[in-house]
Amino acid sequence: MFESLSERLGGVFDRLTKQGALSEADVITALREVRVALLEADVSLPVARDFIKRVQEKATGSAVTKSITPGQMVVKIVHDELIRVLQGDGPADALKIDNSPATILMVGLQGSGKTTTTAKLAKRLKEKNGKRVLLASLDTQRPAAMEQLAILGTQIGVDSLPIVKGESAVQIAKRAKTQASLGGYDVLFLDTAGRLHIDEVLMDEIQAVRDIAAPRETLLVVDGLTGQDAVNVATEFEAQVGISGVVLTRMDGDGRGGAALSMRAVTGKPIRFVGLGEKMDAIEVFDAERVAGRILG
Ligand code: GDP
Repeated sequence: MFESLSERLGGVFDRLTKQGALSEADVITALREVRVALLEADVSLPVARDFIKRVQEKATGSAVTKSITPGQMVVKIVHDELIRVLQGDGPADALKIDNSPATILMVGLQGSGKTTTTAKLAKRLKEKNGKRVLLASLDTQRPAAMEQLAILGTQIGVDSLPIVKGESAVQIAKRAKTQASLGGYDVLFLDTAGRLHIDEVLMDEIQAVRDIAAPRETLLVVDGLTGQDAVNVATEFEAQVGISGVVLTRMDGDGRGGAALSMRAVTGKPIRFVGLGEKMDAIEVFDAERVAGRILG
């Protein structure tokens, strides 16, 4: 999917570039193909429409149609517009860990890569920023998930809150906060429970945890391969919990640009990081320039 978007855009612009002079009709025809490509890459319809409309307005101006290499001009306009949408108001900042201990609430559906991402970010903060990090799993429904976080913690040399059976998520969150303060930790990650689908019980629990934990950041982890579903999940979490940013995982696969584009345009929330594999180092700060470059090919 991701490749077909690049290929199609490449094909369209090859043709435009070769023609030299460009009429308004040429631009419209070319952008129709771009629109189809965006839709195939799972960009939502309103986002694709809006995107094409803005590019068309900019591309059909006389300066463009009379320029020597109009094809290149259109490529640049599409590129700049991609950056604008992907980046929003500015580049994604680093994590806000300015108060100590800073709590980072990790939310998302089961299987999205939440626990893996929690450990990846903890490792990053420890190694790049020299921070003391504490991990705590609140997934009381799935003891295996709690153990998974503890195992990853050991693997990356980061402490995790001892598991106490029978506690509620809110009780664990309270204990984690106390432990983080007493233990002199800089950052506390709370890895909340995931479910296969968004349900009321899950949202109620996350809201209760959020109110107790007063997180500095609430990061939503979504599977980048799920396209429009990922955008719907983000919209729902933003409405019910409030999120400060998104981590798109599995962008190493056939990673479509579409999810990133729609995500930013629909939710208005910045994509902060992208997951690029299963290994603990496979995470990068989201780079709009790189994603736009990959989309254009
Ligand atoms: P959770 O249920 O949301 O906590 O999901 P997990 O963290 O357990 O991840 C589910 C699976 O996805 C695991 O096998 C992870 O190794 C894998 N995974 C997580 N992030 C990525 C990623 O960015 N790329 C790839 N290829 N796999 C990932």
